[in-house]
Amino acid sequence: MDKQDEDEDECAGQHKNPQDDDIAAPESAKDAKPASGNNAASAATGDVPTTAALPAAKRAGRPLGAPGFGRTQKLIPTKFVHKHPEVCTGCLHPFTANDPAQAWTAWDTLELRALSEDDTHTHQLGVYLEVTRHFLMQRQCTCGHLTQAQAQRADDDKAQWAGVRIGEQRLLGPRLAATVVYLSLRMRLPRLKVQELLLELFGLELSTALIDQTIKQTARSVEPLQPELVRQLQVAVLAHADETSWPERTLRLWLWVFCCSHTVLYVIGARTKEMFECALGSSFAGTLMSDGYQAYRSTANRLRCWAHLMRKLRGVAESTDTQAAANGRTMLDLFGSLMQGVFEARDKAKALPTGVQDDPPTHPVVPHAKQVGELKALCEKHRDARHEALRAIAREFLYDWEAIMRVFPSSTVKSVSR
Ligand SMILES: [Zn+2]
Repeated sequence: MDKQDEDEDECAGQHKNPQDDDIAAPESAKDAKPASGNNAASAATGDVPTTAALPAAKRAGRPLGAPGFGRTQKLIPTKFVHKHPEVCTGCLHPFTANDPAQAWTAWDTLELRALSEDDTHTHQLGVYLEVTRHFLMQRQCTCGHLTQAQAQRADDDKAQWAGVRIGEQRLLGPRLAATVVYLSLRMRLPRLKVQELLLELFGLELSTALIDQTIKQTARSVEPLQPELVRQLQVAVLAHADETSWPERTLRLWLWVFCCSHTVLYVIGARTKEMFECALGSSFAGTLMSDGYQAYRSTANRLRCWAHLMRKLRGVAESTDTQAAANGRTMLDLFGSLMQGVFEARDKAKALPTGVQDDPPTHPVVPHAKQVGELKALCEKHRDARHEALRAIAREFLYDWEAIMRVFPSSTVKSVSR
């Protein structure tokens, strides 16, 4: 049995095709009893009523004596779901709810639930782990054919997702799987620490292999969403983009983020113009707010993110070179007052009653045109400064002046800065 198979066995018999002869049911589900017949998948209580006898089903689970790598932690289910075959696969005769049925395999699912979802704890904060036992049922038709309900499972994708199989039979429910992904990618916890946290908080024993597999399966599950997220970003009026280093073992990768008021897309890959263009696509027609990275510069409507520039100016202002620090502080003060002007203009516009036009417009340039001109003059003055950081930021402002000052009409700025 290779590593992959071991991982899968730990998932309480998931991912094995239920048609396989040696379907591995969870230890706790091996005593699956015959159950009553509802054609639809149904939730029931722990009392599993027996019905008219069917020919003995093959014992669910690994053959006795076969080596196993199953979970050692015993799960106690509190919820039971039965999935019945709806029609005979031999003669297509529909089954009725009263036709005898028998469980032929089962698996358990763990899901993170809010206490408030429980009728008896509606006002309680907190979460708990719910164990659901899923039974796949079988029914025998009058034609003699035995039909077994099947778990849903996506086709294998050996080209893009080799070894990453997704389907209904998995130990972690969607919310618990999302929690594992959140801890791993958002909180950047190594697999071992995700394992530790789940054990400490919930007493849940998961292997790091299962945690790793969960992350990959979730990635495959959400992959079809990416084109839709890109589409939503492409029609946004204003989108933001940024990138930060994202080392993975020996690979020096970058985490890109693209967001607008309603959508966020993260992409991990190289730091190249092609990467940016592939991620956002060429049809983006809105305004892009970004830092000064070269890849963004081909975008027609671009705004420079002022927070990035502010941080760089603050760095110069805190320099140990007293002359450069003084120049940096002057530029920082000017830029700070411009930023304040933009905030004030924005607040005034927000305070207007709905439908009322801002006339004449309280555009930030009106009271701040002088500072815009002064800042540009300082940038030109320090374009060839001896101090490297001062020189760099002065050139960055000048090189990207239009995108930085787009919020101010260029005609007014030019007349002031001459
Ligand atoms: Zn039949």
